[in-house]
Amino acid sequence: MADEPKQRPAMSNGEPAAQSAANQGRGLVFIISAPSGSGKSTLVNELRQSVEGLDFSISCTTRAPRGSEQNGREYRYLSRREFEEMIAADEFLEYAEVFGNYYGTARRYLQQAIERGNDLLLDIDVQGAAQLQAKLPASICIFILPPSRRELELRLRRRSTAEHVDDGIIRRRLDTASQEISNYNHYDYILVNDRLEDSIEALKAIVLSERLRRSGDEPSGEVRRLAERCRLENARECIQSILATFGNQESSAVR
Ligand code: 5GP
Repeated sequence: MADEPKQRPAMSNGEPAAQSAANQGRGLVFIISAPSGSGKSTLVNELRQSVEGLDFSISCTTRAPRGSEQNGREYRYLSRREFEEMIAADEFLEYAEVFGNYYGTARRYLQQAIERGNDLLLDIDVQGAAQLQAKLPASICIFILPPSRRELELRLRRRSTAEHVDDGIIRRRLDTASQEISNYNHYDYILVNDRLEDSIEALKAIVLSERLRRSGDEPSGEVRRLAERCRLENARECIQSILATFGNQESSAVR
């Protein structure tokens, strides 16, 4: 990171040529992981709608569609047998079992994104992210954290009414969240999803600043400020106080 960033107007003050170019994608892979209930789907949807040149990898899953979900939009819904046939045919870039169901990223999404000259956005769990980091070390990994365990529990309880899930499932999701969060150290950016609007801006800033860097430019202004604040090394203090609410110790794993 250069100490003297080039002067560039803030994201909200219009877009100079380099930033406009940075809005288009060219083969970057963005991985987003988060515990269930942290608001990741909303953030991912906002990002998909507001950033150009970003293909979304529609995962395959063996879980049943929820609510208004549609086959081919949120997920490709497969039977266990169909999923296992794809595993046998080596069609997955990564796959994992989450909450008793298979989830996987088909290889073709990455290929298609590259062919279209776009970047690829993946919403996958910590196991899948670890597999991809090994295969694609240049991928940019973002972990979304809830502001505290209490806030996560409140969000899960609010959602549980719509999903008709019981207390046991909420407890299981909280336990899983605690385990997943202990993997934060493997991610490049940590985004604390407190206020949704702020988190969306921060997420967009991360994507823009990585694109600028890839084009040989240094991000500056508001984009730089928002993105840098989320960098793992700059977010440690904040992470520690959140981890403490989960009763987690500092993870020893370092990327
Ligand atoms: P949900 O069923 O709530 O949509 O997702 C459950 C978990 O599966 C989330 O943590 C989500 O990120 C993860 N997930 C979704 N798609 C994939 C995938 O293709 N691979 C992996 N490893 N995890 C996925």
